[in-house]
Amino acid sequence: MKTEHFPSDIQPFITPKPGGDLGYDCLNCQARFKPDRLYYTCPKCGGLLMLTDSQFPRLKEQPGSFWRRLFDHRLMANDPAIRGVFTFHEFIAPLIPLEDVIYLGEGHTPVVAAPEVLAKEVGAEFYVKLDGLNPSASFKDRGMAAALSYLKYLTRIQGLTQVIAVCASTGDTSAAAALYSASLGGPVKSAVLLPQGRVTPQQLSQPLGAGATVFELPGVFDDCMRVVEYLSEQYQVTLLNSKNPWRVLGQESYAYEVAQQFDYEVENLVLIVPVGNAGNITAILNGLLKFYKAGIIESLPKIIAVQSERANPVFLYYREEPQARKYVPVTVKPSVAQAAMIGDPVSFPRLAALVAQYEKATHKPSFFAVEVTEKAIMEGTLAANRRGLPVCTQGGEGLAGLKAALALGLIGPKEKAVIDSTAHALKFMDFQNAYFNGGLAAEYGIETRAELVNKPKTLDIPGPLPDGRTKLSLTDQKLFVKTAAQKIAQSLGLKATA
Ligand SMILES: *Cc1c(COP(=O)(O)O)cnc(C)c1O
Ligand SMILES: [Zn+2]
Repeated sequence: MKTEHFPSDIQPFITPKPGGDLGYDCLNCQARFKPDRLYYTCPKCGGLLMLTDSQFPRLKEQPGSFWRRLFDHRLMANDPAIRGVFTFHEFIAPLIPLEDVIYLGEGHTPVVAAPEVLAKEVGAEFYVKLDGLNPSASFKDRGMAAALSYLKYLTRIQGLTQVIAVCASTGDTSAAAALYSASLGGPVKSAVLLPQGRVTPQQLSQPLGAGATVFELPGVFDDCMRVVEYLSEQYQVTLLNSKNPWRVLGQESYAYEVAQQFDYEVENLVLIVPVGNAGNITAILNGLLKFYKAGIIESLPKIIAVQSERANPVFLYYREEPQARKYVPVTVKPSVAQAAMIGDPVSFPRLAALVAQYEKATHKPSFFAVEVTEKAIMEGTLAANRRGLPVCTQGGEGLAGLKAALALGLIGPKEKAVIDSTAHALKFMDFQNAYFNGGLAAEYGIETRAELVNKPKTLDIPGPLPDGRTKLSLTDQKLFVKTAAQKIAQSLGLKATA
C-alpha cells in the first residue's frame, strides 16, 4: 500500500525515523560504550554485552494501542526496509538508517495451529511457528539481518575496504552469515568454521554455495567457538556469532511477531524454545520485556527452554533451587537436535540476567527448563511430520519439550503452547532417513519403532522394462503399465471399477 493511502494518523509514522541512543552495556562491570564500532565483549573487563537504548522511555510516550496499530499497518507497506524484522525498527536497532537495512525475505513466518489429530495425540492444542521458512531456512536470518545491516552502515560511514566476517556454527549460523554477507559483497567476505561431520549435508552446501570460505575442524561446536573467539581477540575479523549483540536485537523480532500474530494477547501463551547457545531465548525474553515495558503487551507469557539430555547445561542450572544454582558447562554427546548440541552456551550470562528481570516483572516463576531424551526428540519430529506439520529435529525437540512440560504440570488447561520450529525440516532429513534405515541406534541411542518406519517399495515386474533411455515397443509398454498397475492395486487393496 502507498503511504498516502494509510489512515492519516498513521501516515507520518509508517516510515520509521532513525533515532534513540543505542549503546553497548557490559553485563559484568556495567560500563557503557558508544555504537560507533563493533564490540563483542566489554573492552574493559571482557564481559558479555547487550545493546540497549537509553532513550527507550521516549517509546512509552505513545500508548501501546498506537504501536499495535502502527505495526499492524506496516504489514501492508511495501518498502523493503520495513518488510522484514525491521517492521519493528524502533524496537530493534533504531540507529540504523533505512538505506542500510538489508531485507532478504526474513521474518513474518507463519504460526500454524497443530492439526486436530496431532493435538489429540499430544493431549493439548498448540501452535508451531515455522521459522524454517526464512531465506536460509532457519531463525538465524533474523539476527543476521540486523547484524549485517549494522555492518553495512558501519562500512559505509567509515569507508572500510576489507571486512572478514567469521563465525563458528552448528550449521545454521554459517548458512545465514554466508547468505547475508554474500548479499553485501564489496568489502565484505565471510569465512565459517564448522565441526567436521556435525552439520548436515544441506547445511554444509549453504555457505559453499554462497561463496564463503568454509573450514571444517575436528571436534564439536564448542571447539570451533574457542577458535573463533581466539581469532576475534587476536586478528581483525568481524564476529557473527550471537556474542555479537546486534544478532540478539534482530532475533527479538521472533517475540514481536508472536505478539502480533496473537493480536497482542499473550497472557495464556507458553513459548517453547529449543536452546543451544542461548542466543535465541535471550532475544525472545528481551523482546517480550521491551514490548511489555512499552505497554504493547499487557502480560508476559510463560517461557519453557528445552534441551536434550545430551547437551543440557541450561536445564541443569535451572533444575536447582535459586540459591543452589551454579553454572557448569557440559561435554556434549551426539544429538539429533544437532543445531542445539552445545555444552557451553555463550549467551548464558545474558540468559541468567534476563530470566531474573523477567520473573521480577511477572512476580512469579515464569521461566522453566526441561530436558528430553533423544528418542523423544526423534519421535516428536516424526510425529509432527506425519500429521501435517513439517518440523526440524529442533522443532521435534520442542514438541518433546511440550509433552514433558504437560507431564510435569507446567502448562495449565487455559494455556496454549507455541513451539519454535527453528529450522526447515529438509535441513535435517538425514536423521529421519537414518531412523528409517536403522542407523541411529549406535551413536544416538535411539531404538527404532518399526511402526514409524517408512520406506519406498519396489515391485517385482517381469521384463522388458523401461530404462529411461530406449523406447519400449507399444505391446511391451502396455504390458508394463498393466502389470505395474495390478501390483500397486494389490498392494493398496484397491477395488476395481465396475
Ligand atoms: C542455532 C539453532 C538453535 C539453537 O539456538 P541458540 O540461539 O543457539 O540457543 C536451535 N535450532 C536451530 C535449528 C538452530 O539453528
Ligand atoms: Zn565490563
